[in-house]
Parts: sequence; structure tokens; C-alpha cells
Amino acid sequence: MCHGSERFGALDVYRDTPGALSPADMEAAQTLADVVAALLLNAQARETALAVSDRFHYNAMHDPLTGLPNRLLLQERLESAATRAQRSHTYTAVLFLDLDRFKQVNDGYGHQVGDQLLCAVAHRLTTLVLRRSDTLCRFSGDEFVFLCEELSSVNDVSTLVRRIDEAFVEPYDLDGIEIIVGASVGRAYVGPGEAITPDLLRRADLDMYRAKRSDPVVRGPGSTAEVVQVGRSGSNLDDQQLEDDLRCALDDGHLDVAYQPIVRCSDGRITGVEALLRWTHPHRGTVPPIVVIAIAERSDLINELGAWVLERACEDHARWTKQHDSLPSLDLAVNVSVRQLMMPDFASVVSSVLGRTRVDSRSLILELTESITMEHGAQTTQLLSGLTELGVRLALDDFGTGFSALNHLGRLPIDIVKIDRSFISELDRPAGRIVVASVTALAQDLGIAVIAEGVETERQRVECIGAGCDYTQGYLHGRPTTAERISELLAG
Ligand code: C2E
Ligand code: CA
Ligand code: CA
Repeated sequence: MCHGSERFGALDVYRDTPGALSPADMEAAQTLADVVAALLLNAQARETALAVSDRFHYNAMHDPLTGLPNRLLLQERLESAATRAQRSHTYTAVLFLDLDRFKQVNDGYGHQVGDQLLCAVAHRLTTLVLRRSDTLCRFSGDEFVFLCEELSSVNDVSTLVRRIDEAFVEPYDLDGIEIIVGASVGRAYVGPGEAITPDLLRRADLDMYRAKRSDPVVRGPGSTAEVVQVGRSGSNLDDQQLEDDLRCALDDGHLDVAYQPIVRCSDGRITGVEALLRWTHPHRGTVPPIVVIAIAERSDLINELGAWVLERACEDHARWTKQHDSLPSLDLAVNVSVRQLMMPDFASVVSSVLGRTRVDSRSLILELTESITMEHGAQTTQLLSGLTELGVRLALDDFGTGFSALNHLGRLPIDIVKIDRSFISELDRPAGRIVVASVTALAQDLGIAVIAEGVETERQRVECIGAGCDYTQGYLHGRPTTAERISELLAG
């Protein structure tokens, strides 16, 4: 057994499961039982000692309150899953579930009722585990984790989330006290042949927090309601519903792309535009693109959605070029999500869209986030090179917000860095100016152009020019707008 091994060391950041033995305690107990077994002479006594040893092992790996596997056992199962996944053609998913307002139950009714509730929840969740290969674990306090291996499709994950949601509809009857409790679920998965890394669990955890946080956002106009989480949270059903609606919107052409101008500092001309996804939901109103992308990323929709944005943007670009044939070429920046980039055929998707729309590959800029460079190491360089061979340029988006990968700039075939808005908004302070000027100088030394994002005021624009930035983008020059409006701006 490899407790606290480096591979899954990330688990150590989490709180201990109440009542579970620490790895050190467990090892000591195991050794003690082994020594006792070795010393005992008669066979029956040895059998008893071995049973004691098994018991120690079982106790160390299970939560004493609910009897579910604890996080140590989860750690072990994740490690075995990681070994198997590399040879497998299936999906592995982790679902992170957190009870809503459990503390209120504990504080209001006392720990005994709180414990009863945890046992009842554990019991209900256990009924959802259909396959022997799945693990349901009490991770800590009011957190539970499902590890599901060998899934044939990501739809299986959505089905499980829906069933979890349904499982929280009925109230719990705890010795005459009726309690309705909700839960928020986060999920993360890896696809066929992808490596399982310690990141998987953390991603599911982050997704769970995102699900809690994003709930009011996706409710749209007409509802400013706070997340009402006494009772079922509803967020997971919302997510599933949104996923279905997004699928329909893609099929029925109800999505749109807006464009924001990018302006060259040296002459103030619009030299490019960034394509930004827009979705107006028939009942919920505008759904922020960041939410749409998150939903698409954890279903199988992201590739279709990404390809759709790319194709639409290239079609609009081709139209602008035709309408304004006397104008110099216009750059077209399109955002690419991590999962899209990781698709083995992504470069050929880009290539065929360029071919179909007859857009010059030198006009296209693919915007990638910093996490791409961090998460996928050597594999990334190869993937990115496959794209630059097509003639497209690559931009590192939101620079400075993720892993501040200054050292990655020279290593990767990046052509453009987009300094995040959070730095531009600090330009009125000396420290902010120093940061922007230093990043700009370093990038330019490496032959990388710099775009300052989120420029809202004339003063910021002047500071960006002073810091040596090549381009500016932001509300000062224009909010994201329609393809038609961009055409008018180009004519003007
Ligand atoms: P991003 O790539 O950093 O895009 C810039 C975002 O900043 C846009 O938000 C834009 O409207 C906003 N913005 C631009 N100038 C200003 C400014 O001066 N002030 C302020 N406060 N905001 C400004 P939007 O359209 O809501 O998009 C949010 C994010 O959603 C994008 O951030 C991008 O990460 C993602 N996204 C949008 N469309 C796509 C897409 O087609 N594919 C992918 N993978 N992601 C997309
Ligand atoms: Ca972007
Ligand atoms: Ca950005």
C-alpha cells in the first residue's frame, strides 16, 4: 500500500475523515497484529490474530460512522484505476458531493441527529452504486465521493448525477424529525487512454464549488433569487437541463458569436477581432459563455461547440474579407478549450474549417489558457506544433491569472500573450505599471507580441502604450458586437 504516495499526494490537502486511523496509526496496528501472529504458536491463535489483522485493515480503510470506504481506500482505488486507465478504452469519473447546510442541521438538532442524517444519506447513495467496480466513499464531514470506472460514455456520469439529484427529493425521517437536505455535485472525468492524475479529484471538488456558486448566475433574468439550498439544491438538475438545452441550441442554430475589436497601438487601427460565444436561452436569458463552456466541457459537447464557433467565425471573416477587399488583412482570434485541444484530430478540424471557408491560416489566432501549458507538459508542445504547422498563430489568454507561466513562454510555440484585465486595472499604480512593462519586455525579447485585455479607459490605453504593449482590447474600443457592426466598423 502506498499511503501519501507522490502520485496522489494531493489528497493530503484534504481534512482527515473523522474517526479514521492515520496511515502511521494503521501501519503500527498492522505491524503489531503481524508480530502477535508470528509469536503465537498454535494454529487457532494464529487464525485469530490474522482475523484481528484483517479487522485492523478493514477499520483503517472504512468510515466508522457510515461503514463506507474512507479517503484512504479511495486513494488506493484511484491508484489502481490510474494503472488500469492507461490500457482502457473507457471513461473514469469522479463525482464530489457536498451536503448543503449540513452545519445547520448539526447546530439546530445536535450531533446525534447530524450523524443519523449522514448515515441515512450514505444509505441512499449506496443504492445508487450499481456496479461492483464503483466506489462510494465518505470523504470527510458531509462530503461523499463516487469513483466510477469503466464507463462507456460520459452520459453515464450525467445519468448518475440525475439519480443523485432524485435521491435527495424525499425528506429524511430521523426519529420523527423530518429533514429535507440538498446537495451539490461536482464532476470530473478522464477519457479513453487519458492518464488519471491527482488533479482529477481536485477538479471534481472545484466543480462542486463552481456548481454551488454558479447557480444564481444561470437562473437568468427575472430571478435574482439567492441559491436556495434548504431542500434540494436543484443546481444539478439545472445543469442537466442546460446541457440538454445547449444540445438543442447547437442543433437548431440558436447560438451566436459576437466579436470584439483588437486595436494596434502604433496607429490605432482595428487589426483583429476576438470571437466570443453567445447563447440566449429561451427562458433563462443570457447564459454567460464561461458557464456554457463549463457545461459543454464536461459533456461531450465541447468539440462540437468549439468547431461550430470556429466555423461561424471563419465564415464571418470570409464575408468581411470579401466586403472590404481593399483593406489589409484582419486577424481572427478564436478561443479554444483544453478538452478541445486535447482531441487527437483537433488540428485536422482546424485545417478542414480553414479549407472550407477559404480563410488564410495566417489570419487565424487560437487563444489558449495558461492551464493548457501546465497541465499537459511535453505532450502540449507536440500538440501546439501540429497547429503552428498549419500556419495559424497561438495566443496565451488571460496571462498572469493561472500559473504565471513566464518560464513557459520561451519553451512553447506561442506568438502572442494577452495580459489579463486584472493587471490592466492596476495600471494606475506604480506596481501595476512595473508588472505590465516587465511582462511586455520579456515577451517581446522572445519575439512574442503583447495584447492588453480589458482596457476600459483612455488613461489605461496610454499606460499600455507606455509599457510597450503592441495591441489593446477592451470596452474603450468597443464591447463585443455583431458581425454586421464589425463590418461597418471596418468600412469606417
Ligand atoms: P476571454 O477569452 O478572456 O474573453 C474576454 C472577456 O472579457 C469577454 O467576456 C469580454 O466581453 C470581456 N471584456 C472585454 N473587454 C472588457 C473590458 O474592457 N472590461 C471588462 N470588464 N470585460 C471585458 P465574455 O464574452 O463574457 O467571455 C468570457 C470568457 O468565456 C472568455 O474570456 C473565454 O474564456 C470564454 N469564451 C467565450 N467564448 C468562448 C468560445 O467560443 N470558446 C471557449 N473555449 N471559450 C469561450
Ligand atoms: Ca480569449
Ligand atoms: Ca482573456
